[in-house]
Amino acid sequence: WAKAEGRDRWAVYDPERSARDLARSELAAGLPAALDRGEFVLHYQPIVSLLDGRMLAVEALVRWQHPHLGLVGPDRFIGLAEETGLIVRLGEWVLRQACRDAQRWHTEFPDAGLVVSVNLAARQADRPAIVDTVADALASSGLPAELLQLELTESAVMGSAGEPLRTLHRLAALGVRLAVDDFGTGYSNLAYLRRLPITCLKLAGPFVEGIRGTAPADADHRDERIVDALVRLAHALELWVTAEAVETEAQAERLRALRCDTAQGRLFGPPGPAETVVARLRGDGPR
Ligand code: C2E
Ligand code: MG
Ligand code: MG
Ligand code: MG
Repeated sequence: WAKAEGRDRWAVYDPERSARDLARSELAAGLPAALDRGEFVLHYQPIVSLLDGRMLAVEALVRWQHPHLGLVGPDRFIGLAEETGLIVRLGEWVLRQACRDAQRWHTEFPDAGLVVSVNLAARQADRPAIVDTVADALASSGLPAELLQLELTESAVMGSAGEPLRTLHRLAALGVRLAVDDFGTGYSNLAYLRRLPITCLKLAGPFVEGIRGTAPADADHRDERIVDALVRLAHALELWVTAEAVETEAQAERLRALRCDTAQGRLFGPPGPAETVVARLRGDGPR
């Protein structure tokens, strides 16, 4: 009751404050306890070869199993966790859990060579201590370093000079893969790109969305030409390319024609609990 009353008062005294903002601050306040209570779960989405459809990697995507709201997506709380600084602790949990899961898969399906890809927030990647955290997550799980990929955003890697750049090089020296996430949506410094120890570019969903084959809205094929250029850029730098948010066979067909290597999206499977990865590894069979 007190809570409901408080909510009404907010509405009376501060009409500008939307119900959404209130929900936001309530969510933010609940995050630390949620982490302590173990309410976060990881779902995994396949990243497949566009040549033969084989699952090469899975991306770990965090969800909050909220006691009242149900499964809450990261878009609703990752930003909050970044603002409050909790992302460092939450991100470390994600990293360790993903490494443990991946090591189990690696033990059961050693020939699959399945890579687990983990998102790092700028606030995590910025801290030199991230190198020890990653090294420890690998050592304590037993996961080989080459089966871990870390996804960083353009802003996290391109702005980095001095210490942050050294941190990226130290991460790469561990043997893990580094990918630039949502490539093309931030500010990319191309001169910088060639100096970064990265192995993969992930093409942002909006470009892929624009690839609609013969749809009249895409008559000038602008997004397609951007994707074409970005794939060429990546290959010139000897980087892998993963297209994100691939939803239709027509998009996959175009991406194949543009020589894009790998893809992720609803067409190839939505994010799902760890069991769905095991089921798929079984189905993929021996290589
Ligand atoms: P992202 O890293 O770019 O992850 C891809 C997002 O695209 C995921 O949303 C995924 O569910 C969604 N997606 C998958 N297939 C499709 C598709 O066919 N079409 C479209 N339109 N979208 C698709 P999700 O799981 O809601 O995650 C959103 C963002 O939250 C992620 O974007 C990432 O930036 C962030 N995030 C998720 N987990 C973590 C984490 O553990 N740590 C950090 N720092 N950020 C995370
Ligand atoms: Mg979402
Ligand atoms: Mg990502
Ligand atoms: Mg992305």
